[in-house]
Amino acid sequence: MKEKNFLVILGGGESGVGTAILGKKEGFRTFVSDKGKIKEHFKAQLDAHEIDWEEEKHSEEKIFEADMVMKSPGIPDDAPLVSRLRGKGIPVISEIEFAYAFTNAVLVGITGSNGKTTTTMFAHHLLKEGGLNVGMAGNVGQSFAKQVAETNADHYVLELSSFQLDGIEKFRPHIAVLTNITPDHLDRYRHDFNQYIASKFRIVMNQTEQDYFIYDADDPVIAKWLKENPIQSQKLPFSLREEFEKGAFIKDNQLIIRTDNLEMTMPTSNITLEGKHNAKNAMAAATVAQLLRIRKETIRQSMESFQGVEHRLEKVLKINNVQYINDSKATNVNATYYALESMESETVWIVGGVDKGNEYAELLPLVNEKVKAIICLGVNNTPILNAFGNCVDQIFETRSMEDAVKQAYKIAEKGDTVLLSPACASFDLFQNYEDRGRQFKEAVRNL
Ligand code: ADP
Repeated sequence: MKEKNFLVILGGGESGVGTAILGKKEGFRTFVSDKGKIKEHFKAQLDAHEIDWEEEKHSEEKIFEADMVMKSPGIPDDAPLVSRLRGKGIPVISEIEFAYAFTNAVLVGITGSNGKTTTTMFAHHLLKEGGLNVGMAGNVGQSFAKQVAETNADHYVLELSSFQLDGIEKFRPHIAVLTNITPDHLDRYRHDFNQYIASKFRIVMNQTEQDYFIYDADDPVIAKWLKENPIQSQKLPFSLREEFEKGAFIKDNQLIIRTDNLEMTMPTSNITLEGKHNAKNAMAAATVAQLLRIRKETIRQSMESFQGVEHRLEKVLKINNVQYINDSKATNVNATYYALESMESETVWIVGGVDKGNEYAELLPLVNEKVKAIICLGVNNTPILNAFGNCVDQIFETRSMEDAVKQAYKIAEKGDTVLLSPACASFDLFQNYEDRGRQFKEAVRNL
């Protein structure tokens, strides 16, 4: 690239600062502009790299001089400034697209509505145990761009949100994974599910016949899209229902993975994480590992040693033979569906928060079958009371985690499970889902 290219970065968070560091290293004149406040440790990093920045404003005159703009994923695509930049023909890209130009690493991109973080960490774990020099980035861990600037690993596993994918042009992962597609974040897609689907499928748009696409063949949205839209890359489906010549599936309690001319089998008991959804995440991760030629024995062993991820069906404690499970990351109905489905005993279910227009009806059969009591935890519990008031014997309203956990403790009996799986965002009572999960664990430990 030309030495004097002027790179403007909108947003001074993890991806913005990472991009700035890489941009500077690659000889760009670099400027970070954030409409809000930039965190102190990010400012320190920018200063250390002698990168220009501003906060609590966007100096438009300067920004419009840009040759290229990197927009942080938190800034909506239709923000007025972004539209005007595009209107002037200035490319507005994502961190992933920018960093892609400066690495020759083999890239694994993982997207989907649910299961991205779990599958990303799972695949990273398998590749690392297999001895590869592999980094993990995207929505998890340190910025991709920063890692490209500072370590440049041979392989990266990238967790990609639809917002990251909206900002790509040339980005081409050698292996793409799509875990599932259910309605989420529709507020950012003009409430048009098709736009959100198209956004997820951008992950394959630059792939060629040398690349691979791993996806959930049981997902009707994915299956329909693939029927209507041919793709270049080699398809490797996974399924709990079908068998494939190439792909991953389960037969007679064995997980079978077939790629090109390799086949691996292992007992499903090797997957220590619970729930059908985690079996799927495991299939996707193991397929990635097999494609990258990790030894079968290593994959088998590493499948067993993967501990799962905090706040995702995380077992907290057993008290009086009642198991407490933290699934605070379940911020939509689909994630909670899988959590309830994986419950094997009578369940006291803590649910609620900021409802993004949830359709609770699909949970009714599972609630009827597994849930003995509901504890609503939110500022507005009406949608939950309306949806489930008639189908459980006991339903309580609480407005703090401590009360919710105490109430659960009172009614749970030996052998039951207490499950926090809110199906909602957390911002009414908590800072974020991590805060909600931590408060849950603390309240359980204080019982
Ligand atoms: P993401 O990064 O896509 O938000 P996570 O791995 O953080 O995904 O999981 C989010 C929530 O979805 C958790 O409650 C988890 O138990 C659930 N989940 C994980 N994998 C899947 C899957 N394949 N399908 C549906 N739900 C899933």
